[in-house]
Amino acid sequence: MIAMKFGGTSVGNVEAFAQVAKIVADAVEREANTERPGVVVVTSAMAGVTNLLIEAARRAADGDEFYLEAENTLRVKHHFVAGQFIEDGLERAELARLTDERLQAFSRLCNSIAVLGEVTKRGMDLVSGLGERLAAPVLAAVLRSQGVPAEAVDATDLIVTDSEFGAAAPIKALTDQRCRERLLPMLEAGVVPVVTGFVGATVNGVPTTLGRGGSDYSCAIVGAALGVHEIQIWTDVNGVMTADPRIVPNARSLNQLSYEEVAELAYYGAKVIHPKTVTPAIEKNIPLRVLNTFQPEHPGTSIRNEGDGDLHGSVKAITAISGLNLVTVAGRGMMGVPGIAARTFHSVAGVGTNVLMISQSSSEQSICFVVPDNSAPTVIEALRTEFKVELERKYIDDISGLAKIAIVAVVGSGMRGTPGLAAGIFRAVGEKRINVIAIAQGSSEANVSLVVEERDRAVAVGAIHDIFELHKPTKERLGLG
Ligand code: ADP
Ligand code: ASP
Ligand code: MG
Repeated sequence: MIAMKFGGTSVGNVEAFAQVAKIVADAVEREANTERPGVVVVTSAMAGVTNLLIEAARRAADGDEFYLEAENTLRVKHHFVAGQFIEDGLERAELARLTDERLQAFSRLCNSIAVLGEVTKRGMDLVSGLGERLAAPVLAAVLRSQGVPAEAVDATDLIVTDSEFGAAAPIKALTDQRCRERLLPMLEAGVVPVVTGFVGATVNGVPTTLGRGGSDYSCAIVGAALGVHEIQIWTDVNGVMTADPRIVPNARSLNQLSYEEVAELAYYGAKVIHPKTVTPAIEKNIPLRVLNTFQPEHPGTSIRNEGDGDLHGSVKAITAISGLNLVTVAGRGMMGVPGIAARTFHSVAGVGTNVLMISQSSSEQSICFVVPDNSAPTVIEALRTEFKVELERKYIDDISGLAKIAIVAVVGSGMRGTPGLAAGIFRAVGEKRINVIAIAQGSSEANVSLVVEERDRAVAVGAIHDIFELHKPTKERLGLG
């Protein structure tokens, strides 16, 4: 039994749907010969749809009726795909009715947002999760039209989450139970469940979302609940690559990575896989595979516990994340004052902000850490309140933020104990005259991160990629033949 997730571009147009249908049909056939047959599909919204929904909701809050235009665009998009595959008139009409019903709900929601003049996180989850609810019935119908028995399943019935709207966390025991109860009978009957990615619901049935790009995570959650033997993430590139191919055109795809390496890459911006995807996989030790819908014969990237040790040598991939702010708490009087770090991070946690990287100078004269740019003002205000007395007494001279910075992360578990690595990284960025603002090494030693200005991000990634010759085949690079 396997779980396969198809991303936005994989269900982006008629050709992509046809491609997906073929991939799923092949998988069903292959799995039929195994001890525990069955294929579960998880789908994203069609490419661009989630962004459109979010934009419509935001504009509705400002009294803009863009949502009416968006409703039309979405209707045409989904009806068009359905029309290309479904020959049976009755089935097509039934699907059109379902699509229209959901689109009407979308317009009603946007209308309420316009009346209220604001969109709450809860309201946003209702709207943004609609893209998957539109896509899943279409994909199920397309699969049936190609001879694969399939049925759409709304993940609001499967994935039970807390009520952290916009980034909800699954409640494992309940989710596992519901996935098994609902999906196993379908699988036993030879039906492919087509589950909506990205969405879940609270115990009371209020829809939530798992965070942008969260369909990968949905697939891992459902796959782990069913105990599949592989979780496949089908996307538009040949697996996880040595860098984002949009930034580094000669990036190569990696055959194998460990969960740890992928988690680091995803956390620091490698959009190809959602950072939380590895968690359910690790718990059940289920291998993940990232594959290309448009080149299905390519083996992609296999992700498992052990990775491939040092075969890839020290550095495996470079990634970057921007839109960040470096907050610094500095002052000579901080030296030896116990508890400054603890109070700093306690305050940051108090305003619900996620810290992406921490770096403290060994002289204890400053602590700096990286947070998303948009939460920096709140963080700085909280710190100024917390350290009011220390600021007055000049133990702390300044609490300030540096906007528009990026973290560049160099990842590879073979980096452990490899001398000269940092030198290589700094030479690469130094030659490009890039100013390194701060550095940190993850405790796992699978990651060295640099803080640079946002405008230097792409050049830094490219330069480090070049210096470690990541464009070369691994064996050639390591002199292994
Ligand atoms: P999907 O819609 O299938 O979920 P995404 O757009 O979320 O696809 O992720 C795939 C994209 O991730 C690729 O097109 C690529 O531009 C980007 N990407 C960023 N970093 C990497 C990387 N290291 N390897 C591969 N792709 C990457
Ligand atoms: N459709 C959602 C998004 O765009 C989830 C996903 O594609 O994984 O964020
Ligand atoms: Mg994605």
